[in-house]
Amino acid sequence: MVKVGIIGGSGLDNPEILAEPQDIEVTTPYGDPSAPLVCGTIGKVPVAVLARHGRDHAIYPSGVNFRANIWALKSQGCTHILAATAVGSLRREIAPGHLVFPGQFIDFTRRRETTFFDRGPVVHTPMAEPFCPHLRRLLAETAAELGIPAHSDKTVITVEGPRFSTKAESHMFRAWSADVINMSTVPEVNLAREQKMHYATAAMSTDYDCWHEEEAPVTWEMIVDTMRKNAHNVIRLFVAAIPKIAAYDDICQR
Ligand SMILES: [Zn+2]
Repeated sequence: MVKVGIIGGSGLDNPEILAEPQDIEVTTPYGDPSAPLVCGTIGKVPVAVLARHGRDHAIYPSGVNFRANIWALKSQGCTHILAATAVGSLRREIAPGHLVFPGQFIDFTRRRETTFFDRGPVVHTPMAEPFCPHLRRLLAETAAELGIPAHSDKTVITVEGPRFSTKAESHMFRAWSADVINMSTVPEVNLAREQKMHYATAAMSTDYDCWHEEEAPVTWEMIVDTMRKNAHNVIRLFVAAIPKIAAYDDICQR
């Protein structure tokens, strides 16, 4: 039985895209998730929406209880996760407003709980392909159908934040082959993988970080403005992709 968890980032915290939405309060052995889950259906597929930073966007990136969020979605029966996130672009061709579907991550976080396996027998989770390739392909195909500019199989670097990068850091991340930068993909993706959930990210490029000398340095106001203009693309994408996920479930190989 397919059930899709949607983790909304900035601009997608309260999507009014569900039929028969219902708030469900969940608690977990790791504490409370960022917000109550909103459960309902999209195209007859059961979904649960979670606002990563809380409904009033009051939880800063390092304060997100990622383990509680993933556990809450898993405990409600979610098999797949579509995560939306704002990213800065480290590549000229990834313009503000474009979507990115990462295939790899680089973990540059410093102070987060990154595993469910911190007690009991030692477990090492394979992470060569952290994102679900099937879900990623499905998102890329759907974006193309909708005419949304998008880039697939890119590398996201997640930094601790909440500050943005220095120019030196931004150039270093480019030299490391990172394509976009954010503060929330890690440890969300690896925790979902530990729970054997299919996880894909729709990353919304909002700005050029600070490596791009011709562009004004990024500010939060600039990002919020672009986010508003582009969040509806991700909603369109998810609404179109979710009915396909139920149909394609068993061809995914993990
Ligand atoms: Zn998968």
